Amino acid sequence: MPKIQSSWHHISIDLALEKLDAAPAGLSQHEAEARIKTHGPNRLADPPKRSDIIRFLLQFHNILIYVLIGSAIITAVLNHWIDTFVILAVVLANAIIGFVQEGKAEKAMDAIRQMLAPHASVLRNGERHSIEGDKLVPGDIVLLEAGDKVPADLRLLKTHGLQIQEAILTGESVPVQKQIAPVPADASLGDRSCIAFSGTLVTAGQGKGMVVATGASTEIGRISGLLSKVETLTTPLVKQMGAFAQWLTIFILLIASVLLAYGYFVGHHEFTGMFMAVVGLSVAAIPEGLPAVLTITLAVGVQSMAKRNAIVRRLPAIETIGSVSVICTDKTGTLTRNEMMVSSVLTHQHLFTLEGIGYEPRGTILLENSEISSKEYAVLEELARAAALCNDAALHDREGAWMVEGDPMEGALLAFASKIGIDARKEQLAWTRTDAIPFDAKHRFMATLNHDHERHAFVFIKGAPERILSMCKNQNAGNGNVEPLNQTYWQEKADNIAAFGQRVLAFAVMPVESEHVVLEQADVENTLTLLGMVGMIDPPRTEAIAAVAECHTAGIRVKMITGDHAKTAAAIGKQIGLQNPDKVLTGADLDGMDDIALKEAVLECDIFARTSPEHKLRLVMALQSHHLTVAMTGDGVNDAPALKRADVGIAMGRKGSEAAKDAAELVLADDNFASIASAVREGRTVYDNIKKVISWTLPTNAGESMTIIVALLFGMTLPITPIQILWINLITAVTLGIALAFEPTEENTMCRPPRPRGQPLLSGELVWHIVLVSLLFLCGVYGIYAYAIDRGYSIELARTLAVNTLVVMEIFHLFFIRNIYGTSLTWNAVRGTKVVWMTVIAVTVAQLSITYLPPLQTIFATESVPFLDGLLVIVVGIALFAIIETEKQIRLRLKVIKS
Ligand code: ADP
Ligand code: MG
Repeated sequence: MPKIQSSWHHISIDLALEKLDAAPAGLSQHEAEARIKTHGPNRLADPPKRSDIIRFLLQFHNILIYVLIGSAIITAVLNHWIDTFVILAVVLANAIIGFVQEGKAEKAMDAIRQMLAPHASVLRNGERHSIEGDKLVPGDIVLLEAGDKVPADLRLLKTHGLQIQEAILTGESVPVQKQIAPVPADASLGDRSCIAFSGTLVTAGQGKGMVVATGASTEIGRISGLLSKVETLTTPLVKQMGAFAQWLTIFILLIASVLLAYGYFVGHHEFTGMFMAVVGLSVAAIPEGLPAVLTITLAVGVQSMAKRNAIVRRLPAIETIGSVSVICTDKTGTLTRNEMMVSSVLTHQHLFTLEGIGYEPRGTILLENSEISSKEYAVLEELARAAALCNDAALHDREGAWMVEGDPMEGALLAFASKIGIDARKEQLAWTRTDAIPFDAKHRFMATLNHDHERHAFVFIKGAPERILSMCKNQNAGNGNVEPLNQTYWQEKADNIAAFGQRVLAFAVMPVESEHVVLEQADVENTLTLLGMVGMIDPPRTEAIAAVAECHTAGIRVKMITGDHAKTAAAIGKQIGLQNPDKVLTGADLDGMDDIALKEAVLECDIFARTSPEHKLRLVMALQSHHLTVAMTGDGVNDAPALKRADVGIAMGRKGSEAAKDAAELVLADDNFASIASAVREGRTVYDNIKKVISWTLPTNAGESMTIIVALLFGMTLPITPIQILWINLITAVTLGIALAFEPTEENTMCRPPRPRGQPLLSGELVWHIVLVSLLFLCGVYGIYAYAIDRGYSIELARTLAVNTLVVMEIFHLFFIRNIYGTSLTWNAVRGTKVVWMTVIAVTVAQLSITYLPPLQTIFATESVPFLDGLLVIVVGIALFAIIETEKQIRLRLKVIKS
């Protein structure tokens, strides 16, 4: 087993390879599996977790609970043992409910963090594989490209313009140029230019390196104690509610102590009774369960988004996602399937049509609707050879289904080459690639330098037609001849192909001296010979068409931002159903506009073509200047600034780079536009549910506390005892409230316009709702209490009726709150959900127990309720429901009339 040493930057590549018993072609799978046993997974230790005991104890860390524990002690001192027992039991039960729910929420979040585990490209057995980053072992050969996060500490073996940003290690945000020669032994971290450090970001170029340290032995592993932080489950809104609850608590406790002092010293009430009444008031008024239920609501939301392939990376974003009013999306792979097929081929004279299925390397070639043989057209073979050589993808036959490894567009080019009769593998062996300029969205071409064994050498180049045309002097005229380039012919034909929604790619070639082994941008500037062009179809995703329509109904604008040609983009935009498919702005148009002109133009135009990543940032800012909430997708390193700037940055999970994912709030597991629409729907649902939890909890608290305040103010007997209040609040309300965290999406959620930016949650409407419902609660409780006393019932029975009425009203209020935007009088609304009925049944059983079971009757001072009075209690609930539902209908109608 190779010994791991700690510094690799001052030794030669050969020595480094030897020390780790590795080779440039990679380890064998077998060896890698053996090594992982000794070195362990390439993973940093998880940040320290709170133990379950601590987590349980933290449930008691709450001012109200302290007050209750204090009350338990006081009641014990006063020898009111039953009260002491009930207070402690209720506090304990409340903590257990909180503990279990919070545990579930944390587990859900952990599972989601796992979904974002990074991948690495390694060479194993000489073949390129994408493996999970934690499977890397020392000696593995890793390939790096722009956008990657370096998966382990690497000794670089090969670099091509490789630049790495090492801010997390050195604090320096300017990327450093990497190379392969050893550096002095005493070089500082920032100067070790032949090492790529785990966790740093590749900002440009390509490279290959050998893993020299994994997991905790990497440089970042050594300092990771400083970095690991536990992410808390919260958002600005929930934090605000938490702070609100805390201040409310302090305020109520102050009032309560004043009341206690007043009642005892001035009113000369008996201390115990007064004390318990004040404790009851505090419990009634303080929404102590609210922060916990909100946290659970968030966790449930995050989980249901993940189920729909949208993974939330930063929790606060979940609030913003629901309020998105513009979505700027990529085209290829997001709106379209990214399953490409070459369907037109253009040469200096002819336009051929290709047929076939997917990536299958067989299919017919047609010229003016009749089948031809590619042998008769020499230029086709030259074109196909360029397509096969200037290519990084591979096609695999997986049980009859042809799959691409790499870029689907390049996969399509390999299938095309086969149809022409060119075997890509054979060509690649015959023509060794000595250098390459990788594709970059900025220059929109890719070039390779290939040598055969007979001292011939060529540069092959492919890219966006206008770009390639600008670099060509001649065109291939068949039979090995060249002729001067006919710009207009190519441009016109390329436009025609693009107008069908096909992506057009041009190919060119240039012979070079055989000594030439390094490719520079300047080599390919303007002496190329154009071989021809191909047009590729990439059908739109059907689900994306539906999702775009859904967004439009939801008042969300959809804009397409693509690197593709304007004509192609317009054709796809039409198929997808964008609003203004005829107006297209190109990157060049955008460059010609200043920020003011752009602000004007950005609203009307839905398609932006031939853009580069820098344009995305400008577009985000222009849209934001209209106070729109902008979601922006991206995949490359250069998209990161736009993703960060957008209100919701969305990275592609499959084709996206680590850099883009790092900058994003949301990652799409399936790169699909439909998942963005789902995320918005879920985001709206979460926000609604937060609103529902609050709109349900606050009136409940207000109603209960007003019941006590009224009694205290008018010196009446309490219609509900403090112990009963404790029961209602810490057990039934907490249980029922949880149901709202799991509420499904309301039917019309995606028919509403987006919520305006900065709209406060505690709106006038909500305040009115709190006032109305708490007054109705008050009437219900006092009404039934007065009725019972009038009938000559005992105080205990009257109170039992009042307690049950309050809980029944809570349940009916719950059913009302489930539909804040529509009617609650549909079969669906009544049928509810499993969670709703589970909590309702649990609460009903608990209520029946404290009403009818003798031991509990002693504890809670209750009496059995006669059947008919039980019915009356339910009628009060129905009456409450009828009143608030009618009020809501009037309010909704008024809104319609107003707008
Ligand atoms: P999109 O927004 O559709 O993903 P890209 O930025 O990926 O667009 O590509 C823009 C253009 O660059 C394409 O229309 C094509 O002409 C060219 N192009 C894309 N990929 C490659 C590649 N691998 N090699 C050469 N040219 C490419
Ligand atoms: Mg692309």
